[in-house]
Amino acid sequence: MPNDSLPLLVALTGGIGCGKTTVLNRFRSLGVPCFIADQVAGAYYQDPTFLASILDLFGNSVFTPDGVADKAAIARIVFADPDKLSQLNSLIHPRVWDDFQHFAATHAASPYVIFESAIIYEAHLDHLVDKVVCVYLGLDERIARLIDRDHATPEQIHSRIRRQLPAEEVMQRADHVILNYEGNPRARQVQHIHSQLLAAAEKRQG
Ligand code: ADP
Repeated sequence: MPNDSLPLLVALTGGIGCGKTTVLNRFRSLGVPCFIADQVAGAYYQDPTFLASILDLFGNSVFTPDGVADKAAIARIVFADPDKLSQLNSLIHPRVWDDFQHFAATHAASPYVIFESAIIYEAHLDHLVDKVVCVYLGLDERIARLIDRDHATPEQIHSRIRRQLPAEEVMQRADHVILNYEGNPRARQVQHIHSQLLAAAEKRQG
């Protein structure tokens, strides 16, 4: 359960290409402290203790000759091996969550803080936060934007999307939804949800 001495904990989620990063930047411009789970987890690959666990789990073959962990090689292994994926997740997820608790505590004066991750529901983090905001976009638009953004093929994009919960399910489970269609005023949607989150934070303070 969320901790009352921390700010309201808000997850921002949505499938790849829905527009999380773009929306997160809007919340950030409103002064909301934002924690990007993937970015924080990426930094663990510089930490010798974490690298030792990676060596235990995957062996030498995922390291370059100068000792750098090859994340693409790790991704290929876990893509094909759910057991390894779950072991990798159990190294990363609890640590990310601890770091987020620390982040929230250092922003105790903020009404709320945001945790951004594509896999809030897959990682069962929805039970640990107070509110979930989801960014939604239809499949065809996502694919078109990802082709532009990542220069990936439609097949590569489909296989990444297939590994996540359907965006429609995420939308149904979330407390707030931002529809990120081109031309739909994103700033106004973010401002509206921001006001609702401020009100929820105030209500919790009593
Ligand atoms: P995510 O972080 O969910 O993977 P991004 O925020 O990176 O998605 O958005 C995916 C791509 O779509 C980016 O290139 C971004 O610039 C573009 N994009 C996001 N929102 C919109 C929008 N409302 N209209 C047009 N392009 C957008």
